[in-house]
Amino acid sequence: MIPLVLGKTTLNEGSDGVGETRDPATGAVIAQFARAGEREVNLAVEAARNAFDHGHWTRMRPFERGRILRRIGELILERRDIIARKESIDSGKPLRDAYWEVDCAARFFEYYGGAADKLHGSSIPLGPDWSDWTVKDPIGVSLHIIPWNYPFQLIARGVAPALAAGCSIIIKPATDTPVTAYEFLKICQEAGLPEGQVNLINGRGSLVGDLLARHRGVDQITFTGSVPTGERVLVAAASHAIPCSMELGGKSPQILFADADLDKALPMVAGGFTTHCGQVCNAGTRLLVQRSVHDEVVSRLHERLQTMTLGAGLDDPDMGPLISRGHKEDVERYYDIARQDGDLLFGAELPTSSALANGAFVRPALVVGAGNQTRIAREEIFGPVLTIIPFDTAEEAVTIANDSPFGLVAGVHTANISTALGVGEKLRVGQVWINSFGVGLDVEFPFGGYKLSGFGREKGLEALGAYQQVKNFCIHHPLGN
Ligand code: NAP
Repeated sequence: MIPLVLGKTTLNEGSDGVGETRDPATGAVIAQFARAGEREVNLAVEAARNAFDHGHWTRMRPFERGRILRRIGELILERRDIIARKESIDSGKPLRDAYWEVDCAARFFEYYGGAADKLHGSSIPLGPDWSDWTVKDPIGVSLHIIPWNYPFQLIARGVAPALAAGCSIIIKPATDTPVTAYEFLKICQEAGLPEGQVNLINGRGSLVGDLLARHRGVDQITFTGSVPTGERVLVAAASHAIPCSMELGGKSPQILFADADLDKALPMVAGGFTTHCGQVCNAGTRLLVQRSVHDEVVSRLHERLQTMTLGAGLDDPDMGPLISRGHKEDVERYYDIARQDGDLLFGAELPTSSALANGAFVRPALVVGAGNQTRIAREEIFGPVLTIIPFDTAEEAVTIANDSPFGLVAGVHTANISTALGVGEKLRVGQVWINSFGVGLDVEFPFGGYKLSGFGREKGLEALGAYQQVKNFCIHHPLGN
């Protein structure tokens, strides 16, 4: 049983009963968790509030906080095997991706552990007889609402900078993936975080997520998830005027020019939309390809997809299952839409093992002949589907890339540096990747979206601002008065 951890209270039962989480490869129940209701929401906020208002985290010297954060990172690495295996079973992702997730979580704690004693203010010149400077105060109780695709990594991504800034935390994991959040809580306790500094509350998002977001004891929200839920969270936050960091969806373009090194670019394009079965916010799900190489690219990508293996995450296949059978139905509906919008080319065969008969597996697919105005090219599917659209000129590629409700990331593949930088400058996205699409364990530079992909920045030093208030001090000190 995964308990609720609310300050010093650990509850194996919540007022909304018990939930179950399943292995998406087999459909088997793998764990149960206590589901919170209003009572436990109030307890969680009280615990976090108490820790922030009266606990010793904010009174600790910043370097001491940094040491505890780095200790959390060390403990994550010490337990990487167990956490990665649990994450792989709970989320369905291939084991190597689960290891990446755990290693990335550890990096967040190393990075922000190092930053904890470097959160300087600034001094502002006002002329003779005046002194002015700023200090950075922690914002208070920070609520982290987590999606199911990268649960462990996304907890670390928000919680590490929030703790470094001096905040206290409430974590609300997704109902589909509650398992590794509890492993994280145990590590926090063992690393010496004060009681109530990090609290864990599981339960239905529409109930406890909403109650938490509306709670007047919460000072800030970091939300990662879909656009419709993000909009609901923003309304809840507006009811008591608190700031939010919103990391939402995407329909990210990869722009492939004819002069690109296809041997290097095509594996990145394929990985860009099949990693974790396409359930990645910054998946490259639109390929804009220069017309002269369009047919060659389609045929090489199709060949590549056909050799892919599907299976249970623990067997480390090329692609695991989707998160649930419900989501499989959603993705399969997009296959029907794709057939109306263009031609659908499938890769990889479904697993034949009877043990995986109830798994949420789908085949990766390419869609060709569908314009950028079609549903398949505009909507986030959160499955392994790549829409391929030809272009002739760099200007046309930019226009198509920017003609999207989203603006999370983009890839540009070309041998010409002027083309790469000229296109990159014009793209309305939060990250531009040139001849690359992901570096691995990249915690150091900012990540976040334009347009419907959200606002606020995670990762890097930029992320710390979400968890701080800036306080200005000003003194008038004329000599001789
Ligand atoms: P989701 O359905 O929006 O759920 C996200 C979280 O919100 C879950 O913990 C959910 O709880 C909770 N929630 C649901 N209703 C709520 C409400 N009314 N108030 C407060 N919280 C509520 O998203 P998902 O399906 O888990 O994740 C997929 C989406 O996340 C995709 O759109 C993807 O692009 C996006 N994503 C973005 C990033 C990024 O960094 N930009 C990273 C990863 C994923 P329950 O699970 O209990 O419903």
